Parts: sequence; C-alpha cells; structure tokens
Amino acid sequence: MNHKLFAIFGNPVSHSKSPLIHNGAFKHLGLKGCYARYELNDGNEFKNKFFSLSLSGANITIPFKEDAFAACDTLDSFAKQIGAVNTVVEKEGKLFGYNTDAPGFMAALDGFIPKNTLILGAGGTARAIAFALKSVGSNVLVANRSKERLLFFKERGFETVVFDELQIGDFDLIVNTTSAGLKDDTFPMSDTLLEALMSKASFVFDCIYRDTPFLKMAERLGIQKKDGIDMLLWQAFYAFEIFNDKKFDVDLFEVMKKSI
Ligand code: NDP
Repeated sequence: MNHKLFAIFGNPVSHSKSPLIHNGAFKHLGLKGCYARYELNDGNEFKNKFFSLSLSGANITIPFKEDAFAACDTLDSFAKQIGAVNTVVEKEGKLFGYNTDAPGFMAALDGFIPKNTLILGAGGTARAIAFALKSVGSNVLVANRSKERLLFFKERGFETVVFDELQIGDFDLIVNTTSAGLKDDTFPMSDTLLEALMSKASFVFDCIYRDTPFLKMAERLGIQKKDGIDMLLWQAFYAFEIFNDKKFDVDLFEVMKKSI
C-alpha cells in the first residue's frame, strides 16, 4: 500500500509544528502516512489544491479556516457552530470538515470545568473555545479590544463586552486568545484590571505557546496556569484519529509531545 498524504495549509506555514507531530505519530505506530506543509495564497484554492495533491486529509491554520469550512460537503457539530474547520478528510470524493480546536482546548484543561469563564479576544480561537466551554455548561463572557468581532458572539447568545467597559467579576477561568504577548511583551488589556480579575480566578490559560506577560502575572499571583502547547497537541491528536478513522491510546499524546 502507498503512503497516504496529508498536509497543513496556511500562510505563513513554515513555522508549523504539525508535520513534526503527525510524522512522529505515523513513524511511532508504523503507519504509512506522510504529512507536509503547503503555503496557500488564496483560500478559494483550498479545494483544488487538496484534490490536485491527492491528499487523504489536511489541517488548516490561519487564515484559511473559514475557507476550508466553505469548501466542505459535510461538517461536524463544532465546525457548524464555530464557522471554521481545522481538519478535513476526503471520502469518496467528498470533503468532511471538523473543528478539533474545540475538543483540543477542553482536553488541555485536563478535567477542569469552569463555572464562569472570561475569554479575552474574539477571533477564530475564541470562537472555538467559547463553544467548547458552552458545551460543558460554563457561563462565558467574551471581552475584546474592539467591538466588531464581538457581534458574532452576541448573535449566538454569548455575553460580550469591550475591554474599556469590563468590570471586576468572579471568573474561575480566564483565557487569553488575543495575540498580545505572541511577538512582544504586552498584556492584552489594562494590567491593573487584569491583575484584579486574575486574583479571583483559579485557572489561567494562554493559547500562545510561550511564557507571556499574561502567564507571568498568573505565576506571580500563584494561580494555576497553562500555555497553548497542550491545546496544539490535543487538536493534533484528535485530527490524527480522524485521519486514521481510529481511536488511539493516550500514550500517543506523549509520543506527539516528545516529537516537538
Ligand atoms: P485572530 O486574528 O482571529 O484574532 C486575534 C484577536 O486578538 C482579536 O480579538 C484581536 O482584537 C486581538 N488582539 C490582537 N492583538 C492584540 C493586542 N495587542 N491587544 C489586545 N488584543 C489584541 O487570531 P486567532 O484567534 O486565530 O489566534 C489568536 C491567538 O491564539 C494567536 O496568538 C495564536 O497563536 C493562538 N492560537 C493557538 C492555538 C493553539 O493550539 N494553542 C490554535 C490557534 C491559535 P481586535 O478584534 O480588536 O483586533
């Protein structure tokens, strides 16, 4: 049997850890799979490229998750709610789309189910996390720097607020989904207000994979914290199960972790 081909589509995509994670898993399990990167320039080209490369499956990252959503013939329930797809498989000429960022985030919480959550940021990642938390019954408030992106959440029944109008409240979980701290040492919002909010929280999560000022503040306050690495790995784990149409033992998560 020939190797099955998979790829991650994005732009930029050269930094993506997905090939390391998936190829590491294929090798470990002795499966005939090969996973590459593809830098796409136009999201409308996703479907053509998928088929012309004879792929069995793909992951999709920034900024093409909405294009992939539009290209799919069938969608899982998270993908439908979120309006974005990060995993696609082909079956009999049709594209099946999934969103594994949502269950990936929940798995990264490692059993912690928050009663009240504050999500900072209102982009694609915030959408996945908001629906994931809603599915386990958490009350979610989405706060963002500007108003525009909050509309999506408001229309779907989430409480929303701009940072300037955010007040101190009781949130057991605070999640940073903004890009603040990704390439600089900035906070997503006023550090004074953030510190007051964090002081009342029991868990703080940053989707970024580095030790951001947001996470350093949690450390200083002695609050349980987590960066975005496990979320990345769990979304890959669930995508790998979809690619192979099979459930895998959680040991594979540790194999994936070691491969990056
Ligand atoms: P989007 O571009 O869709 O959204 C970015 C959000 O960040 C917007 O709400 C934007 O606010 C806000 N923002 C950007 N810069 C700042 C700033 N300096 N201060 C305050 N708010 C800011 O991005 P994504 O949702 O796709 O990704 C967000 C982050 O999550 C990235 O850092 C990415 O690396 C990370 N990520 C991690 C994953 C993981 O597996 N761990 C998976 C996917 C993403 P506004 O609307 O006002 O512009």
